[in-house]
Parts: sequence; structure tokens; C-alpha cells
Amino acid sequence: MGLIVGLEEKLPSGFLLTTVEKLAGYMRKNSLWPATFGLACCAIEMMAAGAGRYDLARFGMEVFRASPRQADLMIVAGRVSNKMAPVVRQIYDQMAAPKWTIAMGACASSGGMINNYAIVQGVDHVIPVDIYLPGCPPRPEMLMDAILKLHEQIGNEKLGPNREKIIKEVEAAALAAKPTHQLKGLLA
Ligand code: SF4
Repeated sequence: MGLIVGLEEKLPSGFLLTTVEKLAGYMRKNSLWPATFGLACCAIEMMAAGAGRYDLARFGMEVFRASPRQADLMIVAGRVSNKMAPVVRQIYDQMAAPKWTIAMGACASSGGMINNYAIVQGVDHVIPVDIYLPGCPPRPEMLMDAILKLHEQIGNEKLGPNREKIIKEVEAAALAAKPTHQLKGLLA
């Protein structure tokens, strides 16, 4: 409500003009409900973020939903094993659209230090990711910062033809990018 508080006095006629895009973004970003699930140690930090000391309720987000059909934010907290990958995908598919994802921690973002046959090397192999949160584990403050950055991103999201244009541009850039197997790492 930061936009509105104090503004009423400056608008004696009671009219406020905005775009549908901005209004939808404002409502979406302020009504995010995360899905309830955690995969590994990072989930402990996620739980701490929801508890009394850090109090995720300040952002209206304490209602972790038990059903993916009532959730629109997936926080992938912890490493994703090959065994769990189809389950993560199924939960994502069952969530209401539009939906967003945060890869919490090094393991969820890239496999982290667990580079072996059992672990998916980044959850973006399974679902789209909006925010990558580094750290092992990231602290609750970092998760809250990632959530606020996601709010910002959602608030500025485009709709309709504007959105389609951006999707096409992103796809073209991805196709033009150098394949990862050709990238040289720090040790190459
Ligand atoms: S990033 Fe660290 S804390 Fe998080 S799941 Fe991996 S090992 Fe655990």
C-alpha cells in the first residue's frame, strides 16, 4: 500500500490512473503463496524465515500452502536428486499459473559441491527458475531479499503482446548463446 498511503490527499477527485499491467503486477506481487516442501538442509533456513524471529508474515507470505493448487511460488530449498526431480516437476505442474520459482542455495541453483550421478546439476534442468539465490545455506535474510527482488520482478512483468515480445527476445538470445559444453571454466 506504500504507493497509495498519503496519495489520497493529493487526489481530491478520488481518481487514480494506472495501467492494467501495473495493477496486475501490484496485486500479484503482494499475494504470493509458497508451496510447502523442502528437499534438504536449505529448507531449515526457509522454515526459520517463516518463524517468529524473521517473520515472513510481514510480507503477507506466511501461508505456506499444503496444496500446490493454492500456491504460486515454489522455493526449491535444497539439492534435487534424480529420484526427486519428477516429483518437483509434478508439484510445479500442479501449481496455479502464473507461478514463479526461487532456486534456494548452491545445490538447487547448480548442484553445488555435490557433482555426482545422483544430483541434478541445477533445478533449471527440470523447471524454469526466476531467481537464483547463492549460499550454502543462504540465511533467512537472504531468502527474504530474494523474495523482495522477485516481488520487484513480478511488479514490472509485462502482459499480452508486450510479454510475448520479451519472451521472443529471450528465446532468440538463448539460441544465439554459446553452448555450455563450449564454455571454458576457471580451470580450463
Ligand atoms: S546449498 Fe548447502 S545447505 Fe543448501 S542443500 Fe546444499 S549443502 Fe545443504
